[in-house]
Amino acid sequence: MAQISTMAGQANVAVLPGDGIGVEVMQAALAVLEQVEQRFGFMLTRETIEAGADHYLAHGIDVPEGFYEKLEAFDCVLMGAIGHPDVRFPDGTEIAPHLEIRARFKLVSGERPVRKYPNTPRILSDTRAEEIDFVVLRESTEGLFWSRGKGVVEDDRVARDTMVISRAATEELCDHAFKLARKRRDLGRSKGRVTCVDKSNVFVSMAFFRKIFDERARNFPDIQADHHYVDATALDLVKKPWEYDVLVMENMFADILSDLGGGLVGGMGMAPCAEIGRDFALFQPAHGTAPDIAGQGKANPTAMLVSLAMMLDWLGERHGDERLSTAGIALDKAVYDAYATGGILPFELGGRSGLKAVIQAVLAQLR
Ligand code: ATP
Repeated sequence: MAQISTMAGQANVAVLPGDGIGVEVMQAALAVLEQVEQRFGFMLTRETIEAGADHYLAHGIDVPEGFYEKLEAFDCVLMGAIGHPDVRFPDGTEIAPHLEIRARFKLVSGERPVRKYPNTPRILSDTRAEEIDFVVLRESTEGLFWSRGKGVVEDDRVARDTMVISRAATEELCDHAFKLARKRRDLGRSKGRVTCVDKSNVFVSMAFFRKIFDERARNFPDIQADHHYVDATALDLVKKPWEYDVLVMENMFADILSDLGGGLVGGMGMAPCAEIGRDFALFQPAHGTAPDIAGQGKANPTAMLVSLAMMLDWLGERHGDERLSTAGIALDKAVYDAYATGGILPFELGGRSGLKAVIQAVLAQLR
């Protein structure tokens, strides 16, 4: 089998299974990746790196020595999930190296797709809920989260956190939003629309965000650009989420609305995630390590498999290799088709399909 060889070098991936069900959904992803590689005629270079809560317990440190420097040699990280509620640093903070990866590699654009899969329980009674298919695009390096670790409490009287919106990150984010809408439209997934979600009627930082959105929108005249206040968007995402395509917003707003999105389609096992910067990316399901179901074979690998599909698509674009992009789109479709005709329903959604059953159903659909 030919290795991918391009002018940009070989596509290579750092694989971080992590802890709990992270390890299980990663096993699922790698089993599926092997089949995808065989069918589409390529092989990614990959290296598994142990990191996380178990690594901390065993070695007194959450990641191996030189971990972040080592990552620079890779295109991206494929991660399961990391952390454990009972394993913390001495200051009480959680084991979360992905936050450091996000900051260090400036992964500005966090894609969180929200899609209703066929034959899964409908959370909203309206039949149009079957059409839910939108993306929350989360600015992931600043916004209100800029204040993480920098907030202040003055004399036990008043506490302050700061919201930061920079031109550079907002331009990058908005361009990503418009390109994503274009891609989704070309794939027949949407009509090509980007909604800027903000609170520009109250905050100067949000008015700045909207101003930059409008500036960047002019470069994408084929994509519909509109605005919505975040409070009204929360209402609409419950009343008519099927109307949305790409929703772009500040970090904290997206933190909240993307979980609302996960709830609209059944649970965290249905919530994939891609965090993309100019020169590096991190792909992982949005869920945690779920200690309550770890080791039982009940974890839903859907979000992991869709995150893997997003990674293949991104690598394909980065290396100009059609096989990878085609494989990514095919895997995404295979997951969808497994729900449409493969008779699966994961435990998380009230069914009896364990992790292995979901993998088998996806592989059966892979063409
Ligand atoms: P974190 O803070 O790391 O995101 P958390 O405890 O808030 O972690 P999760 O670990 O995602 O959240 O778990 C929340 C709930 O969702 C748990 O009941 C868990 O079992 C369930 N859950 C999460 N991911 C999956 C999955 N892939 N399959 C099935 N159930 C899942």
